Amino acid sequence: MPRAFITGITGQDGAYLAEFLLDKGYQVWGLARRSSSGGLHLDRLEWLGVLDRINLVEGDLGDLSSLMRIIADVDPDEVYNLAAQSFVATSWQQPHLTANVTGVGVLNVLEALRLLKSEARFYQASSSEMFGLIQHEKQSETTPFYPRSPYAVAKLYGHWITVNYRESFGMHASSGILFNHESPLRGQEFVTRKVTDGVARIKLGLAKELRLGNIEAKRDWGHARDYVRAMWMMLQQETADDYVVATGQTWTVKHMVDIAFKHAGLSVEDHLVIDQALFRPAEVDILLGDPAKAERQLGWTPTITLEEMICEMVDADVARLTQKHR
Ligand code: NDP
Ligand code: GDP
Repeated sequence: MPRAFITGITGQDGAYLAEFLLDKGYQVWGLARRSSSGGLHLDRLEWLGVLDRINLVEGDLGDLSSLMRIIADVDPDEVYNLAAQSFVATSWQQPHLTANVTGVGVLNVLEALRLLKSEARFYQASSSEMFGLIQHEKQSETTPFYPRSPYAVAKLYGHWITVNYRESFGMHASSGILFNHESPLRGQEFVTRKVTDGVARIKLGLAKELRLGNIEAKRDWGHARDYVRAMWMMLQQETADDYVVATGQTWTVKHMVDIAFKHAGLSVEDHLVIDQALFRPAEVDILLGDPAKAERQLGWTPTITLEEMICEMVDADVARLTQKHR
């Protein structure tokens, strides 16, 4: 049985990746960090029904010795580094933490592997936010980067240190430059989930309005379920490489909001409030990925449309809230 170790297993992608790898016959280990309330964030793993099929190990991306102990114990064949302070807006509030976890944390995992299991295959969760102020209309693996937030700057370090460890030490280290991907398990601070949760609340009479910032921003949104498959495909290649993973379509936040309200049978005009406080110090106005290399070399294509995904998310939030307020 191949053995996989996932950092960030309690997050959106970690949960879907764990489910995907279990279905492929992997033994799955995941990094979980302690909180003072004693509770780990296990709700996503529970929601997918995979919690009792995985092994959790305690540690932190900022703590090299915990990573070394875990790599020595688990002896993984594949390592997926998904842990990060992943929310762009928070990165202006906590820039040092973001640099340490989202940036230097990648180095910690790579160092632990280099010293203890350099033949293991490594995946780094890089981000389309690295393109920021876009230099090409469609962003591919050869588009120059121009990060626009402390988060994106930290991700850029993680991306280049991954490339560097591949080139310096011959490690099988791949970087997936993933465009935004969402699901019913997306954190509620991100705009899609904020919208689907907000729409569900309005639908159930639990809220009257939904407050958003810049609804003219455009994103290339896919589904997390499709994107974790691409991560695994990268590590099955003979040679490690970098890949853009995207749908090749871009839509405004406003368009995504329209889909959610329409699905719930509600009027956008009656409930949407634009709040200047939610605009960002520097914005990424548009992202549009070119997934041609992933399609050609990995045979990967997305299967779930934006509309299908947003409807699934609204339905899941209505079901969750109905159960909670029963
Ligand atoms: P989430 O925010 O849902 O999950 C982040 C995970 O990182 C959680 O498991 C969290 O643990 C963990 N984590 C945070 N800080 C630490 C730390 N110091 N030590 C150990 N674990 C930590 O992110 P996603 O699942 O959406 O994204 C996965 C990765 O992909 C992230 O690196 C993200 O930046 C990147 N990415 C995501 C995109 C997207 O659209 N979703 C697009 C491109 C890249 P806890 O549960 O305890 O908080
Ligand atoms: P990001 O692309 O990783 O920053 O993902 P987000 O989902 O956080 O944001 C996507 C876009 O939606 C950005 O351009 C935000 O400025 C925009 N947006 C508009 N209103 C909101 C809001 O209320 N919350 C969030 N998170 N984003 C918003």
